[in-house]
Amino acid sequence: MSFRHYFSLLLLPSTLAACGNSNGDLTTRDGASADSTVVAESTPAGLVPTDADGAMNDGPARSGGVAIATTSDTGAANREPNELGRIMIIEYHLIGDKNSTYERERGQFRRDLQMLYDRGFRPVTMQQVMDGTMDLPRGISPVVVTFDDASPSQFRYIEKNGELEIDPTSGLGIWLDFARTHPEWKNRAVFCMLSGAAAGRSFFGEKGIEGQKSEWRHKKVRFLHEQGFELCNHTLWHANLGKYGDAMVQEQIARGVMAIDSAVPGYKVRTFALPLGVWPRNRALAYKGSWTDPKSGRTVSYDFDAVLEVAGGPARGPNDPAFKVPGNFNRIEVIGDAIERSINQLEKAGQRYVSDGDPNRIARPAASTSDSP
Ligand SMILES: [Zn+2]
Repeated sequence: MSFRHYFSLLLLPSTLAACGNSNGDLTTRDGASADSTVVAESTPAGLVPTDADGAMNDGPARSGGVAIATTSDTGAANREPNELGRIMIIEYHLIGDKNSTYERERGQFRRDLQMLYDRGFRPVTMQQVMDGTMDLPRGISPVVVTFDDASPSQFRYIEKNGELEIDPTSGLGIWLDFARTHPEWKNRAVFCMLSGAAAGRSFFGEKGIEGQKSEWRHKKVRFLHEQGFELCNHTLWHANLGKYGDAMVQEQIARGVMAIDSAVPGYKVRTFALPLGVWPRNRALAYKGSWTDPKSGRTVSYDFDAVLEVAGGPARGPNDPAFKVPGNFNRIEVIGDAIERSINQLEKAGQRYVSDGDPNRIARPAASTSDSP
């Protein structure tokens, strides 16, 4: 598959529009604040007994025997917890020299991280969202940062005197530097990887493309895993799964999983990103299936908990009545000021997920209690 062909697939606007609308209802303002059945133990008045004083304590504040983490975020005290809210799952492709639909200029990428940080967001993985284990301080919101296609622009090595260094101008280089200089910014992005696509989109580069050697591929995937990042499958070479039969769909997906397993043996891939946001005709095959490698006779199975769409807006959070796992999750493509617009809309609608810092309670906004009996 040529580079040109690869990008012609990526640039089909009609396909993308369809993805954004394909499961429709998630962008509406139904549900969250009207439902009173989810919240178990707490009322706003009974929320965590530390507020503005939380950061001043010598040790972590406690509630019901559970440590409440504090934050360096000065605005956190002013954000009312709302753990019924929605979560942004944002989506990057290339990190490079310019801004375009599928490319974020590297300085802008760093400014995105800073803006998220300043507005009280901290990264979590899809696994944490699915398991409801986002251990965030009170007043802080989760954001899931996803990187699609495994291009060298996201994770590039530079070879210096026989040593490999992560290129500080690659997406990962920028992320790691940001994490070093910003408390609470952990290595919790999600890399949705291709393992055998054209133009170096094969575990972040091969065959000398952008100076990347094929033998570095598994080392890169292992590094991401060891640093705490989540490994996500995005198929073998980015096939439009709507155009192929069941056997090919499963082969594309299973070979991506097999490649991740070769790099990190035993890794359980739980998240899958649909190429182009296009579902296979048999939607169930996006979640679960198997394929037998004709060369080895080995059967590779997959069974995902999350299928990521290409677009659609903020996703339901784990305490939303309609949240389900396995399930599909909407994302936000990082184009222009899409992240800021989403934050503003979430805040205006009272739908921003804000942690109360206490894993034993589900905090709901005060407005929702006054609406309820
Ligand atoms: Zn992709």
